[in-house]
Amino acid sequence: MTEHSESSLPCEWCGTAVSQAATRTPRRYCKQSHRQRAYESRRTQRRMQGAAEVALQAVGWPR
Ligand SMILES: [Zn+2]
Repeated sequence: MTEHSESSLPCEWCGTAVSQAATRTPRRYCKQSHRQRAYESRRTQRRMQGAAEVALQAVGWPR
């Protein structure tokens, strides 16, 4: 009988297996810095999207 007391999830930033501690909240990143990077990139992406939309509105849609 194999016991799987230790599970692991892939880091959402680099894909490295992250061993899960016995806490209720799952760890989704292998390092704190990866968590930070993923968060920042998500934020930047959203900002870039907003900027693109503004640019399109300023230029106007081509007919
Ligand atoms: Zn990572």
